[in-house]
Amino acid sequence: MKYFQEKAETMPLEELKKLQDEKLVKQVKHVYENVACYREKMDAAGVKPEDIHGTADLHKLPFLTKDDLRDNYPWGMLAVSKADCVRIQSTSGTTGRRVVAFYTQKDVDMWEECCARALVAAGATNEDVCQVAYGYGLFTGGPGLNGGSHKLGCLTLPMSSGNTDRQIQFMQDLGATVLCCTPSYAAYLGESMLERGIGPDDNPLKMGIFGAEPWTEEMRQGIEKILGIKAYDIYGLTEISGPGVAFECAEQKGMHVNEDHFIAEIINPDTGEVLPDGSTGELVFTSLDKEAFPLLRYRTRDICILSRKKCSCGRTFIRMTKPMGRSDDMLIIRGVNVFPSQIETVLLKEGYAPNYQIVVDRVNNSDTFDILVEMNEEMFADTVSGMTKKEKELAGAMKSMLGINPAIHLVAPHSIQRSEGKAVRVVDKRKLLSDSQWKG
Ligand code: ADP
Ligand code: ZN
Repeated sequence: MKYFQEKAETMPLEELKKLQDEKLVKQVKHVYENVACYREKMDAAGVKPEDIHGTADLHKLPFLTKDDLRDNYPWGMLAVSKADCVRIQSTSGTTGRRVVAFYTQKDVDMWEECCARALVAAGATNEDVCQVAYGYGLFTGGPGLNGGSHKLGCLTLPMSSGNTDRQIQFMQDLGATVLCCTPSYAAYLGESMLERGIGPDDNPLKMGIFGAEPWTEEMRQGIEKILGIKAYDIYGLTEISGPGVAFECAEQKGMHVNEDHFIAEIINPDTGEVLPDGSTGELVFTSLDKEAFPLLRYRTRDICILSRKKCSCGRTFIRMTKPMGRSDDMLIIRGVNVFPSQIETVLLKEGYAPNYQIVVDRVNNSDTFDILVEMNEEMFADTVSGMTKKEKELAGAMKSMLGINPAIHLVAPHSIQRSEGKAVRVVDKRKLLSDSQWKG
């Protein structure tokens, strides 16, 4: 099985564009008629639904931001009656107050189909046993992949996150072949299995679908090695549906956006100007099919690049690079832009595990920049002078990547708290970046 929904996933570009044009015209009308906040925004911008004839007119529509959703919490963005909704999910609240999203049954089906597409693209079939170790509940990770796994007909193991011993035992006893969780939890599971003497060849897993947080290519290689699997990325956000907005194919070169359901744009986060494919900028989504919570031009704050380059898998959908982080994850330290993903890249290249924490503070009007990094067991046995040397070497490698010098602190193995969901990589004690700076 190559595709879950072949016709949609391999649609010729012209046909895809036509489909998007038709859906957009309908969706704008639906939103204008049913969502007061967006109607007011369109009125203020002097745009009427009649002005939108297709995707070429998309740029005329106003943006929506997370603050708009917060201001309209909880019912303000709902475009259908409560009676037509069957589900509520919520963001994990990584960057502030949670946002709630609503789904009709059709919305849930579309979301789950997107997750099924991701599973098939990774090579899964109905013969697979799919262990879902994303959190279940309000967070979209568990329910999304659970639904996708059902739609595909996999034998689904709804583990939820945490309880690592039980995860390992069920994986082994029930022969899980697909693992779905955050990449940081996958790395942790791999590490925990090794400690119990379970190497990459001793588990039944074949592939993993990891997302919900930024992770680097180096981290992918690490996970593939420790678990003996192929590791695929999956991207999504609650506001647009959940995981499965975009997914990786066997090429492992960026994630295909499910363009029959969502339009992706890249904009300059400062000016809002739409940028051509190949530019780095903020990802913006328009939801073409969502009934209950249909967001138009929603600013994700995720920074990435889009590419229309033909993919050998046969899918025609545009690809997005791994988000290098959120615009609000970006730290400005002593005037230099730093993304946690850059630090992770250096650590893995230098042979460290991806267990780290960045601590930024302001002392006497100047930024301090510390990175706590776990040593591995053999370094732990090293002498103090040996460790100081390693800290210096690592600081040097960071300097050449980032342009500024952090203070590296090697800490004992396992001393940095592991996450069962999204990892907490940054402790910024300065709170320099207020939310409003990114509102645009
Ligand atoms: P929250 O914004 O509170 O974390 P969500 O749980 O909906 O709420 O998470 C969506 C966000 O998670 C995305 O906007 C993005 O920043 C991040 N994310 C999701 N998947 C990935 C991925 N594969 N790579 C990098 N970041 C991701
Ligand atoms: Zn592909």
